[in-house]
Amino acid sequence: MISFSDILKAGFDFILPHTCIICSEELERGMICDNCLEYLPLVNPPLCPACGRPAANAAHCTFCRDRDALDHGRAWMLFVPPSDAVIHHFKYRRKTRLAHLLGRAMAGIVKADFVLSQSDVVASIPLFWLKKIRRGYNQSAILAQIISTETGIEHRDLLKRIRNTRTQTRLSEEHRRQNVLNAFAVCGDGVQDKKILLIDDVLTTGATLKECYRVLKQAGAAEVYSCVAAITPDRSHAPSRHRPATSLRHRPACLSASGGTGRSRQVNLRPGFPG
Ligand SMILES: [Zn+2]
Ligand SMILES: [Zn+2]
Repeated sequence: MISFSDILKAGFDFILPHTCIICSEELERGMICDNCLEYLPLVNPPLCPACGRPAANAAHCTFCRDRDALDHGRAWMLFVPPSDAVIHHFKYRRKTRLAHLLGRAMAGIVKADFVLSQSDVVASIPLFWLKKIRRGYNQSAILAQIISTETGIEHRDLLKRIRNTRTQTRLSEEHRRQNVLNAFAVCGDGVQDKKILLIDDVLTTGATLKECYRVLKQAGAAEVYSCVAAITPDRSHAPSRHRPATSLRHRPACLSASGGTGRSRQVNLRPGFPG
């Protein structure tokens, strides 16, 4: 549903110059300049096999050393400056056009990953209905839809959030786990024996994804995987210096330079994504 504030905002976007959301450089169009895009801190191996977080010797990371760890997970970038600003704009500042950048990058990872590419269904992490009304969109569902379109894996709503939960941001690992305990339920009967790929924007301790994993496994899911746009580094492992985004095979096609002013090339994000 398009609100009056959305129309007003679209008008301002048309009148006001576009600036890079990271460095504030003026752009003709798009949301991130090529320079900032080039140096987004992307995730590089060795990775924790359960969540995709950089981890020494590809062992399970600090957060996956328990029996609730997901069957397999991958992430696109590290949730550290400046990529945390990209997530913040996408999630809290209604910059839903960023979904094209994030969703296509994640789809590239899914297609290239032997395990994730075998998924039967793509599913998003649901928001509580009140939170969705307040925010106006579910960022996880937007990403899941793009990943489904790009990979051809069916997208279905498999989970619903049956109670509201506090924001996890300031909670400890144990409090996060308690906070989301019994917060989700499976909807429908399309889970049995399926390999399910859960999509979310950020993975920190993994408490939310692990609770969804638990509920889906209880309902008969064969395997539960995850792919997230950003993941926090492990406390016990300092990630190696990241390669520039342009050198990665997962750099999505939408990141092609769009020419422009000559001062800087710009990210060609297709405008008008609903949100
Ligand atoms: Zn920039
Ligand atoms: Zn892990």
